[in-house]
Amino acid sequence: MVWPSSVRGLLVTEAVRGEGGILLNAKGERFMERYDPARMELSTRDVIARAIYSEVNEGRGSPHGGAYLSIAHKPARFIRAKLPSMYQQFISFAGVDITREAMEVFPTTHYAMGGIRVEPASCQTAIPGLFAVGEAAAGLHGANRLGGNSLSDLLVFGRRAGEAAGERARQISPHASVRRRHRGSRAGAACALGAPKWRIARIANG
Ligand SMILES: Cc1cc2nc3c(=O)[nH]c(=O)nc-3n(C[C@H](O)[C@H](O)[C@H](O)COP(=O)(O)OP(=O)(O)OC[C@H]3O[C@@H](n4cnc5c(N)ncnc54)[C@H](O)[C@@H]3O)c2cc1C
Repeated sequence: MVWPSSVRGLLVTEAVRGEGGILLNAKGERFMERYDPARMELSTRDVIARAIYSEVNEGRGSPHGGAYLSIAHKPARFIRAKLPSMYQQFISFAGVDITREAMEVFPTTHYAMGGIRVEPASCQTAIPGLFAVGEAAAGLHGANRLGGNSLSDLLVFGRRAGEAAGERARQISPHASVRRRHRGSRAGAACALGAPKWRIARIANG
């Protein structure tokens, strides 16, 4: 959203384009014809973002410095059913009824492209015991992330990091050294069952 200024930067979901929304400049031109005639508004978001930026830069932007995104050509019932949160967001923040009017939009930041180097199999960073995944970790998506694949990235690498962190915690836990010390004894058996240290010590000391 580019307007009102209090909510400038608030995300307008890509689903608006996915459900058939079209992008127009101040002259009413469907400008994606110039940038990606085959895919039009279903183009990738880096292409869309550059196209909007170019239109605004070349003086064909909307009054608040964006482009128009309209889905008003679809039936109101369809819009309210498919895009309920967008319908509410524009009504409450901008007083715009998207079933009848166009939204004003501009590219915004909503994803950090990493920074921390990790070892891919475990997500271990250069600092032993520190693991990183998601937006904090580097490189998985290269210089551009396609829509919708951040959450699958988190599921895969979150699991790897969780398992590696759990394994490391088991190796360095105080129980591990106690277990080694009492291996083969009754105290060792209590240890294996996860008994608290005071109980293991009591068994070990008779
Ligand atoms: C509006 C919006 C819509 C999106 N839609 C989609 C989508 O449809 N599909 C998709 O795949 N991706 C989507 N994304 C991207 C995706 O949601 C994020 O990339 C993902 O959630 C990032 O996960 P993360 O674990 O890396 O970071 P986060 O989810 O940001 O988690 C970081 C956590 O760390 C906590 N934290 C920060 N600093 C500290 C600190 N100092 N101490 C302790 N805790 C701290 C934060 O509170 C937060 O809970 C969307 C993002 C936005 C903003």
